[in-house]
Amino acid sequence: MSPTMSIAEELAVRGITRREFLKFCTIMAGVLALPVEQTAKIARALETARRPAVVWLEFQDCAGCTESLLRANRPSVAELVLDILSLNYHETIMAPAGHAAEKSLQDTVKEGGYLTIVEGSIPVNDDGVYCCIGGRSALEILKEVAANTAAIITVGACAFYGGWPATPPNPTGAKGVKEIITGVPIVNLPGCPLNVDNLTATVVHYLTFKKLPAVDDLGRPLFAYGRRIHDNCERRGHFDAGEFVEAWGDEGHRQGWCLYKMGCKGPVAFQNCPAIRWNEGTSWPVAAGHGCIACAAPNFWEMPAYEPVPIHALTPPTTYPEVEPVKEMSPITAGVIGAAVGVAAGVAGAVAVSQLAKKEE
Ligand code: SF4
Repeated sequence: MSPTMSIAEELAVRGITRREFLKFCTIMAGVLALPVEQTAKIARALETARRPAVVWLEFQDCAGCTESLLRANRPSVAELVLDILSLNYHETIMAPAGHAAEKSLQDTVKEGGYLTIVEGSIPVNDDGVYCCIGGRSALEILKEVAANTAAIITVGACAFYGGWPATPPNPTGAKGVKEIITGVPIVNLPGCPLNVDNLTATVVHYLTFKKLPAVDDLGRPLFAYGRRIHDNCERRGHFDAGEFVEAWGDEGHRQGWCLYKMGCKGPVAFQNCPAIRWNEGTSWPVAAGHGCIACAAPNFWEMPAYEPVPIHALTPPTTYPEVEPVKEMSPITAGVIGAAVGVAAGVAGAVAVSQLAKKEE
């Protein structure tokens, strides 16, 4: 792939249809919480944008965010948008090794204006000797790369707040990027691991609007971290009704009740997991039966995973009247309601069909 090709040219080469491309742009507008009219703007921008050079630095981490990137299975064009970034340097997945790899990095840094993605924390104790690549410390590499970059995107919990390497007593002095680098636009995409859809959307925003998305006071984009998980959770109705799982595998667990008492951190966690989910939008931890661990919150690893998080009051179960159990209907009532619903559905269907027919005309 040539860095001088536009994204539209890349699409043509790869046989991506116009329909697939526009579908991708619509999904991105949705993830970015933009009005649907912005789809055309995203499409126009991606069609003309040149591939921005990207340096992906990986320091103290488990490589989970890279794994998340490699296993992303969204529409092929999403992979393409990440693919067509000119990924000049990525220690884990790049083909060159040794001096050739280091030369790639040096050449990109010399040119400047690239995007930097950082995965993993940076140890600062003892001059950063606890994480060295090519004989240089992570600290030294990060400072050098940050000096000439257009912007930094941190991915995962470790590059955000130090992550697991920073758990007390933090022997290596692990830190997140924002504790070390200043004077460069930084956007944080925490999570353990990163949800790649949020990275794709951030890149699309950058290419479309020529700037990073609006962020909260922790530097996290509002489109992805502006909503409380608890307020968008499919189990919220059970929380409000006072229906809680009390033990793993109990009747409430089998019925999909609220996981608050099992330690779910949804009431204090902010991320768009309930909306965009994981694995091609199929599921997310709470849907799978495990509480949220608030992996996008600073120092989340210090919250006891299976203890309920303190919230100001568990108001619904104590102040709301109990939810009435569903009463059985008599066959006659059920028949009347069924007939009414049937008529309503029939009318709605007829209206929809006639609208469609008009549209087609
Ligand atoms: Fe969902 Fe957790 Fe809130 Fe219960 S406590 S409604 S499981 S986010």
